[in-house]
Amino acid sequence: MRPLSAKERGGVMRERVEKLRRRMEEKGIEALLVTKPENRAYLSGFDGSAGVLLITAAGASWLVTDFRYVEQATLQAPHMEVVRHGPQFHATLKELAEKAGLQKIFFEKDHLTYGLYENLKENLGVELVPQEGLVEGLRMVKDAGELALIKKAAAIADQAFTNILPLLRPGVSEKEIAVEFEYQMRKLGAQGNAFETIVASGPRSSLPHGHPTERRLQEGDFVTLDFGAKVDGYCSDCTRTVAIGTVDDKMREIYDLVLRAQKEALAAVRPGKKGKEIDAVARDIIAAAGHAEHFGHGLGHGVGRAVHEGPRLYPLGEELLEPGMVVTIEPGVYLPGWGGVRIEDLVVVTTDGSEIITGLSKELMIL
Ligand code: ZN
Ligand code: ZN
Repeated sequence: MRPLSAKERGGVMRERVEKLRRRMEEKGIEALLVTKPENRAYLSGFDGSAGVLLITAAGASWLVTDFRYVEQATLQAPHMEVVRHGPQFHATLKELAEKAGLQKIFFEKDHLTYGLYENLKENLGVELVPQEGLVEGLRMVKDAGELALIKKAAAIADQAFTNILPLLRPGVSEKEIAVEFEYQMRKLGAQGNAFETIVASGPRSSLPHGHPTERRLQEGDFVTLDFGAKVDGYCSDCTRTVAIGTVDDKMREIYDLVLRAQKEALAAVRPGKKGKEIDAVARDIIAAAGHAEHFGHGLGHGVGRAVHEGPRLYPLGEELLEPGMVVTIEPGVYLPGWGGVRIEDLVVVTTDGSEIITGLSKELMIL
């Protein structure tokens, strides 16, 4: 799929803002202050590092930023009115609130800092109301353009993984592997990695999120690699566990168990299922093998502009899967002091099931 033209992008963004406005009206939200960078970029297309949106139900779409970003914001968000603020951010926001006759401004309670909250509360002269999840709810279902970017990011990560396989041998450190991995992703066209690459080897592979260290690979190690690329603001996420040199019976048993749980959970993904139902498929298989307490995290999560977003697939996940949602399926078994295995694929929910975005094999690789 070809990238969207600036005009088409503008149309997509305008539709998103209109959808948000309809939800705001339903919930009686007269104005929303969007500070979270992923939400701001989703609604505006503006990906600079500073700026907020003030969107009113009555029809105003303001993008407030400072001198450094005015030109970029104007180019990237032609459907919004770009407003430059001076040294006092709150003074500009106050002017806009007065212009729109606002009584209340809803803010993102899981992002606005307490310092800025206090500042705005003191200076704006409107009531500030906490809100959560409004834009995130819209972001869960991806459109064709978003899916194309996520697939591109996943393809880059797959290729980078394939390229670094010859490096996985005794004597090479986790850090060396992580650095080469990230270099490969950038070289293949990623804007960067979606998150810090996880390389956890030997007994360290029992750390679900082990940061790469100076530890050098040894024969008989499991190595867990969790990696993602970012393309035009969109992330991928994948985990593979490989063995170095040899595997014993226990390693094979744990690997086969995780793989079976992963495949069964994948097969259960379809629209109308709750996150917790998919989670239970994998969790029951792992529990039946006596490893319930060794699988302590959720089965998966949504992926998009953020590497962790909705919906969550975990024991309390009530959200229903819908076509266009992109989620991970990543069971793991971690035995402290011994090691662990996690296998993670990225999938898009389709009208009758799912399509696996990750292109890598899951058979146990002994390198
Ligand atoms: Zn991951
Ligand atoms: Zn993940």
